[in-house]
Amino acid sequence: MSTCSLAEVVAELEARYDPAWAESWDAVGLVCGDPALPVRKVLFAVDPVAVVVDEALEWGADLIVTHHPLYLRGTTSVAATTFKGRVVHRLIRNDVALYTAHTNADVADPGVSDALARAVGLTSELRPLQPSADDPRRGLGRIGRLPSPMPLGRFAELAAAGLPRTALRVAGDPERMVETVAVSGGAGDSLLGAARAAGVDVFLTADLRHHPASEHMEAGDRPALIDASHWATEWPWLADAAGHLTSALAARGINVEARISRVVTDVWTTTDLDRGWG
Ligand SMILES: [Zn+2]
Repeated sequence: MSTCSLAEVVAELEARYDPAWAESWDAVGLVCGDPALPVRKVLFAVDPVAVVVDEALEWGADLIVTHHPLYLRGTTSVAATTFKGRVVHRLIRNDVALYTAHTNADVADPGVSDALARAVGLTSELRPLQPSADDPRRGLGRIGRLPSPMPLGRFAELAAAGLPRTALRVAGDPERMVETVAVSGGAGDSLLGAARAAGVDVFLTADLRHHPASEHMEAGDRPALIDASHWATEWPWLADAAGHLTSALAARGINVEARISRVVTDVWTTTDLDRGWG
């Protein structure tokens, strides 16, 4: 087994998460790092925040792959006078690269919502909730089935148990039977209409706001809604991305060690359904 350069790791990531698939407003790809430097250890995390940098430095990572961008909008300064600037300084000072796969990972096949669907117990084949125009096998969200019908409340319990530390909020009668499920990792307000049109029994996503959710429930309350924490809905993807990277490189005789960050970077630190890592 040999080691490889950051450029080779990036090429492998981009073979799976093509930057061209990212939304126009997004900022994906290499944030910092020298493409010529070797990469032996890769840390996967949802957020590029200080505690994740702490974890990377402690472990001796050469690269951090995050789902969320550090800078989503342009900046004219990376001075260490802001938390983002401090992240950049600490990474560069320690030769740690940072790479982001965001909306291009959302729409990939498999992507962020495939991992979420499996984590909450969907066992059937999955298809995009909102297929991409250029390739309907890719797209936002996923639709699938549970192994058997069950009450909404039971499904919410299964989903909570399958996700890391999260608080679930449920809209709909907990006794209502559900079987077809749509999921979308991250903020899913914009997919409410698609979930309704798909005729699924329940839609699980994050960051649902009061007014869209209220209007949806008043307009016929189908599908039922489950709102989880944003971080928790995207965390399951990390293992999928890490597994892909290490096995794709191993197939070429390259040994890279991957680690999934277990630092909880959910901003909501106190919840009434705190199940730990369960
Ligand atoms: Zn997100």
